Amino acid sequence: MHELGLMTGVLDAVTQSAVEAGATKVLKVTLSVGEMTEAIEDCLTFAYEALTEENTLFSGSELEIHMVKPRSRCLDCGLEFDHDRFHVTCPQCGSPATQLIAGRDLRIDSIEVDIPDDADPAPAKGAPAAECA
Ligand SMILES: [Zn+2]
Repeated sequence: MHELGLMTGVLDAVTQSAVEAGATKVLKVTLSVGEMTEAIEDCLTFAYEALTEENTLFSGSELEIHMVKPRSRCLDCGLEFDHDRFHVTCPQCGSPATQLIAGRDLRIDSIEVDIPDDADPAPAKGAPAAECA
C-alpha cells in the first residue's frame, strides 16, 4: 500500500523529532497531504494506526490530516490556479504549459509531544530517613 510507505517516512521523522525534544509521548501529529501524492486520507489514517499500534511513544495519539488541492502556475500568463489531479490547463488563457506549485508533497505541519517536567531531577535534600536513627 502506497500510504504505508508514506506513513513510515512520516513516523520516522516524527519519532526523531520527539526523541530529540526529550518527549516521552507523541500527542498529536498534523499533516498536510497534497492530492497529487495520490494518497487517500482514510488509508493514511489506517496506516498510521497500524504502524503505531505497538509503539508506546504513539499510544493514544491523534492524527490530523489536511488534504491540499493541487495548484499550478501558468507559464504563459502567470495565473495561479487550483485544479484536480487530471485537468491542468490554465483557466484564463487555455495554455497547457503549467508548473505544479502545490499539492505534490506530504508535509508534517506540527507535532505535539509530552515532555516530562522532571527530565532534570533535583538532587535529594538532606540525609535519607534511615540514616537519621
Ligand atoms: Zn494562462
